[in-house]
Amino acid sequence: MRAAVALWERLWNTGKSMVVGHGITIREMFHKPVTVRYPEEKPPFERGSRSVPVLKVNEESGLLNCVSCGLCERSCPPSCIEIVQAIGADGHRKPWPETFQLDLSHCMVCNLCVEACPFDALEMADVVELSSYQVQDLIFNKEQLAELWKTSRALRVAGGECIDMGDDTVAAGVVRS
Ligand code: SF4
Ligand code: SF4
Repeated sequence: MRAAVALWERLWNTGKSMVVGHGITIREMFHKPVTVRYPEEKPPFERGSRSVPVLKVNEESGLLNCVSCGLCERSCPPSCIEIVQAIGADGHRKPWPETFQLDLSHCMVCNLCVEACPFDALEMADVVELSSYQVQDLIFNKEQLAELWKTSRALRVAGGECIDMGDDTVAAGVVRS
């Protein structure tokens, strides 16, 4: 008798679980899904993320703020910044980088380079979609870093976080002679 009751209990619980479980499944089929088919569908990205250090362009001169002092390069724990200072025709060092390269594949996004820069030449961009299957695609030169800054700034302008200063000024940002 006790065995028969236990069997009925198990059958009852199994049937109840199936009804409740399928009920939840059927109810959720009519709800709007919380997931999106990324990357075809873009979710809203939160502002203020730290994605990559980028080179800022001076609003008045239209040139990079960077004077090639090398402090960010020396402050970077995984050594992912490489700078070569420009040398003029007179053989003297010039206060801007001939090359400025950042390897995002090694970057910890720690912000130490930004904090180390005394010339307000670096900032963390809000550009988050930079992944690639090719590691060499994650090595950015100064033109690309300025372009990423431009993209990040455009996002901030669109979000009302800063004012637009015009594309012409930014486009001229890395040209030095
Ligand atoms: S980004 Fe700043 S810290 Fe780095 S080399 Fe340029 S001026 Fe110096
Ligand atoms: S964020 Fe950190 S790891 Fe990345 S370049 Fe700057 S100092 Fe280096």
